[in-house]
Amino acid sequence: MTRKHNFSAGPAALPQAVLEQAQQEMLDWQGRGLSVMEMSHRDKAFIEVAETAERDIRELLAIPENYKVLFLQGGATSQFSMVPMNLLRGASSADFIDTGIWSRKAIKEAGRYAQARVVASTESQAYCRVPGQAELDLDPAAAYVHYTTNETIGGVEFDYVPETGEVPLVADMSSDILARPIDVSRYGLIYAGAQKNIGPAGLTLVIVRDDLIGETVAGTPTMFDYKVHADADSMNNTPPTFAWYMTGLVFKWLKAQGGVEAIAQINQRKAEKLYAAIDGSGFYNNPIDRPNRSIMNVPFTLADSNLDSRFLDEAQAAGLLNLKGHRSVGGMRASIYNAVPEASVDALIAFMQEFERRCG
Ligand SMILES: *Cc1c(COP(=O)(O)O)cnc(C)c1O
Repeated sequence: MTRKHNFSAGPAALPQAVLEQAQQEMLDWQGRGLSVMEMSHRDKAFIEVAETAERDIRELLAIPENYKVLFLQGGATSQFSMVPMNLLRGASSADFIDTGIWSRKAIKEAGRYAQARVVASTESQAYCRVPGQAELDLDPAAAYVHYTTNETIGGVEFDYVPETGEVPLVADMSSDILARPIDVSRYGLIYAGAQKNIGPAGLTLVIVRDDLIGETVAGTPTMFDYKVHADADSMNNTPPTFAWYMTGLVFKWLKAQGGVEAIAQINQRKAEKLYAAIDGSGFYNNPIDRPNRSIMNVPFTLADSNLDSRFLDEAQAAGLLNLKGHRSVGGMRASIYNAVPEASVDALIAFMQEFERRCG
């Protein structure tokens, strides 16, 4: 068996060391004679797993005391409704920055509960950049300002944190959380589906300032109330215990790499060399403005799109998997999350150069 180079956008590659540990512990976890996914979530041993994961993410992101960390289900997509249900708090509108497909989905869902004002959009520029601070037409009476730090499909990423004054800032960080250090205190709420940069699918991380929760719109289901989850330590019902355990292993792995500062340097290096290979060729192209190029998702096209399927077939034969771009944009996309080794990026670049020599 050989592990191949996996550039999947999500569910995405996990660190090999984490998979090996999970494999080793699968049948007999910590000498207890059963796997971690076969025990009660109320078991003291599992609660220790859960609490350790929370302690580690608090340490990794330096999360202040007045923020709750919730381990939920339903994906980032559920957060598109959970955020307005909990954060509107009597207001009639919220502000949104539109930078692509994921922002648009968040806007559409919030529109079911309030006026979702688009304060800036780069749609007319094919989403090849993010709007600057001066372009944001913010409303001081908005319940919150929502943006997508990294558009996973378009490969466009904010290079600054929007300044929103007293209005809480909400961020969908599904595809770039833990890629670099962040200042959590700048945010009212951060959410992320696990399956890109955190762990297996099934778990959704929410980091929320504690004064923002406790007041929901009428009719909010119990399971959509942040306060319910906060008061129950994310165990109001059965949580996705195995995904939580795996996520805890990923946090330990990250700490062993030197934490988020250290992984950020590796991420920067991986992204820089891949973009340099694209820009240095006359054959590959990435359309995103340089300061807003994603360090996690790198879309690129070939000079001749008739070669796309040949590129993908040969890449796969060379052990480079999941490079097909999203159906809405076409071309290729290499997702190079924390768990994708630098050697995989090197292998991709070598393949691209060799393919261009033969076919360019
Ligand atoms: C993947 C993704 C989502 C959707 O996540 P689900 O867990 O499938 O609901 C939302 N936003 C961004 C930025 C994503 O990358």
